[in-house]
Amino acid sequence: MKIDGKTRTCGLFGNPVEHTLSPVIHNTLARSMGHNLVYVPFRVEDQQVEQAVSAIRALHLAGVNVTVPHKSAVIPYLDEMDELAAKIGAVNTIVPTGEGRLKGYHTDMPGLYRAMRSEGIDVEGESVLILGAGGAARAVAMLCATHKAKEIYMLNRSPEKARAVADEVNGLFGKEVLIPMALSDFSSLPGKEYVAVQATSVGLYPNCDDVVLEAEEFYDLIKTGVDLIYNPETTRFMKLLKARGKRTMNGLKMLLYQGIIAYELWNACEVPGELAQEVLVRMKAELAQ
Ligand code: NAP
Repeated sequence: MKIDGKTRTCGLFGNPVEHTLSPVIHNTLARSMGHNLVYVPFRVEDQQVEQAVSAIRALHLAGVNVTVPHKSAVIPYLDEMDELAAKIGAVNTIVPTGEGRLKGYHTDMPGLYRAMRSEGIDVEGESVLILGAGGAARAVAMLCATHKAKEIYMLNRSPEKARAVADEVNGLFGKEVLIPMALSDFSSLPGKEYVAVQATSVGLYPNCDDVVLEAEEFYDLIKTGVDLIYNPETTRFMKLLKARGKRTMNGLKMLLYQGIIAYELWNACEVPGELAQEVLVRMKAELAQ
């Protein structure tokens, strides 16, 4: 990679940022697409979010991703919000739009949608189960409601949090699209053949043997399981489904496509499908190390 006086800089704001795969995504894209651009992680402390956002303007950064714990904290310091990011109430991509103006986007949800479509998984007309009620689960609920799932259940350890998300999402859509439940009440689910999205942090490395629900019967209700976790590559949730011959995917392609969508916004370009595959291979190699 040649760095010279014209090199544009993109980066990631978060804390911690040491284990991020985003530099692999963006630096591979820049190299392959011939863009003179580097992507670096920036650790940002809670009390310095405002200064960090100001630095995007001051240093003429070409674009920034935002990760935990700053996805909502950056919002007051931006000039405008994309409609979807405003609805979700979180920003994972900041795009400079000229004259020092910054616009906030949320590319996780469209990233998950592209990832699922690339695996032939759709939510339209499907009955969906979302496990979890955190930031990721909330975005998945919005995705499923936007893409017209037939019904959406949100199951969470703390049912009051699922209720709060449901109140908000149902308010936004003006109808009861999301039904909250306690995880332990799964046996009262009315049907079978659900598309299930595992959006809790249970099973994440190094706690690879953990799973959010142990009950074997639960896995019989599911036809397709998507785990947002990508490390380990095959979570226990996925293993329990695979053992029953069910289709599964992990969260690596979601990470890939949220990055590709951000890259396309920063560089006003379209990333070709073959290049997306090449980046995925590099991400897998990086994870394996
Ligand atoms: P979060 O806001 O902290 O939410 C965590 C969720 O996990 C909550 O619903 C919590 O339930 C549940 N949970 C935690 N420990 C539990 C346990 N022992 N038993 C049952 N439930 C438990 O996290 P998030 O930001 O939504 O992220 C969730 C997951 O998605 C993480 O693993 C993250 O890595 C992944 N993710 C992946 C991508 C990607 O690009 N692939 C993007 C975003 C997130 P309570 O409400 O009861 O505490």
